[in-house]
Amino acid sequence: MTRNLILVLGDQLSPALTSLQAGDPERDRVLMVEVMAEASSVPHHKKKIAFIFSSMRHFAVELRSLGWTVDYVTLDDPANRGSFTSEVARAAALLKPEQVVVTQPGEWRVAEMFGGWPDQLGIPVAVLPDDRFLCSTVEFAGWADGRKQLRMEYFYREMRRKTGLLMDGDQPVGGKWNFDAENRKPAMANLFMPQPYAAPIDATTCDVMALVAARFETHFGDLEPFSFAVTRHDAEAALAHFVSHALPHFGDYQDAMLVGEPFLYHAVISHYLNCGLLDPLAVCRAVEVAYRSGAVPLNAAEGFIRQIIGWREYVRGIYWLKMPNYADENYFNHTRPLPEFYWTGKTDMTCLREAITQTKSHAYAHHIQRLMITGNFAMLAGVDPHALHEWYLSVYADAYEWVELPNTIGMSQFADGGLLASKPYAASGAYINRMSNYCRGCRYDVKQRTGPNACPFNALYWDFLARHRDKLSSNPRIGQMIRTFEKFEADEQARIMTSAAATLAAL
Ligand SMILES: Cc1cc2nc3c(=O)[nH]c(=O)nc-3n(C[C@H](O)[C@H](O)[C@H](O)COP(=O)(O)OP(=O)(O)OC[C@H]3O[C@@H](n4cnc5c(N)ncnc54)[C@H](O)[C@@H]3O)c2cc1C
Ligand code: SF4
Repeated sequence: MTRNLILVLGDQLSPALTSLQAGDPERDRVLMVEVMAEASSVPHHKKKIAFIFSSMRHFAVELRSLGWTVDYVTLDDPANRGSFTSEVARAAALLKPEQVVVTQPGEWRVAEMFGGWPDQLGIPVAVLPDDRFLCSTVEFAGWADGRKQLRMEYFYREMRRKTGLLMDGDQPVGGKWNFDAENRKPAMANLFMPQPYAAPIDATTCDVMALVAARFETHFGDLEPFSFAVTRHDAEAALAHFVSHALPHFGDYQDAMLVGEPFLYHAVISHYLNCGLLDPLAVCRAVEVAYRSGAVPLNAAEGFIRQIIGWREYVRGIYWLKMPNYADENYFNHTRPLPEFYWTGKTDMTCLREAITQTKSHAYAHHIQRLMITGNFAMLAGVDPHALHEWYLSVYADAYEWVELPNTIGMSQFADGGLLASKPYAASGAYINRMSNYCRGCRYDVKQRTGPNACPFNALYWDFLARHRDKLSSNPRIGQMIRTFEKFEADEQARIMTSAAATLAAL
């Protein structure tokens, strides 16, 4: 007789998961299911689906080696009924467990689904907190309570104090909390760019790739070549590779972009962190060791650790604090459909083409490409934030709603009106030209503001500010630019509007 039926999800591949810690391999049973309802909820990138299914299959082997009995249902199992609810119902009918146990999922919709199971399935369901984060949802709500304004920087300092990471007693190492001012160098093409760790493909991954090729043919993205790690061992090798090869330059070139260089000095580990193959605190400790041993400068170590214990934890806190309404935020009332080229990469704008084609190939783009290229363009063009959210959720291997949604709705689209970010991340071509070499070979001229050859970001940028001046002019960080626009000659303002309208009509 099974006591607990423990459902383990595809982003819960951690042996220390609360649902497993609460269980007993002698008396409980683990259920893992590849379900079509989740794999096709949006047109997820083929590489992302292959990565998750293969990592799940390897994790089932890991759990069995730890003594667990694991019932693993593959997508092509004829008995598979295609959704979490129907598969848990099927297993419960067979095993008659006393209760179902699961760790809190990373998506509001799935949490709601679990909440309905006791009535639907007639069985108790225990949902345990996910403690693979430094800050629990309750702790975050306590931190946010009563604050006039939520800002990541203050939250981050709390997390530094809490973990002791990069601290000398109660003071930050180096005398400053944040070294971002040193992290804005544009990269040069003649720098040596390390490639991320490439893991070998085994028979399990081959089977999964054949399955994905057959069942998800119409989904976005290229399945091959596939070199993601799908085991804890290989994910740790990917981390070690990053720490020794790329981390020393991570800070300097964090915001840089180069044609043909998708990874630069980034870690390319978010998909491992988010599915549980890597532990965030262990990752940060490894980075701190590299700093304290003298192998890595402080601006790199601090910049990296801030992304994980700062931004990553902060966006999760915002997600659970503000859902379910957060998904529908649309401060600017933007309604334009997502341009078709987001799915194909077919555009003459080099920056967008680079960011989108590499996304198709690798299911990856680094933060500044997501924020200042695809996100920035969508906001300037007035794209519906929800349509953009579905795109980001589909196309990146690391995309789960708890992390993707606040980054899209809050950080990149300012659709929450400034809850998460202090100003819209809006920029003209000049910023992209400063931080990349994209403009050099582009069919458009980044220096021109209007006309058929002008960089489309330029007129769209001013048009965006003019369109939303009522909402933005009091913003201390962007109001100044609105006043600059207002000083342009009326003719120039009219030319800008005409150019922006022409770009938007062509979308
Ligand atoms: C519009 C938009 C959508 C995004 N969607 C996702 C998403 O679905 N999943 C996701 O993990 N990240 C998302 N991010 C954040 C960030 O772009 C990725 O975490 C990062 O690019 C992953 O690549 P990396 O591992 O090479 O990261 P690095 O640049 O090497 O950074 C190190 C780590 O810091 C963490 N991190 C950095 N920035 C953020 C951030 N803003 N939010 C959360 N974690 C962060 C990640 O875990 C990352 O692995 C999004 C950002 C934007 C602007
Ligand atoms: S000129 Fe404009 S469109 Fe072309 S790459 Fe530069 S910023 Fe992008």
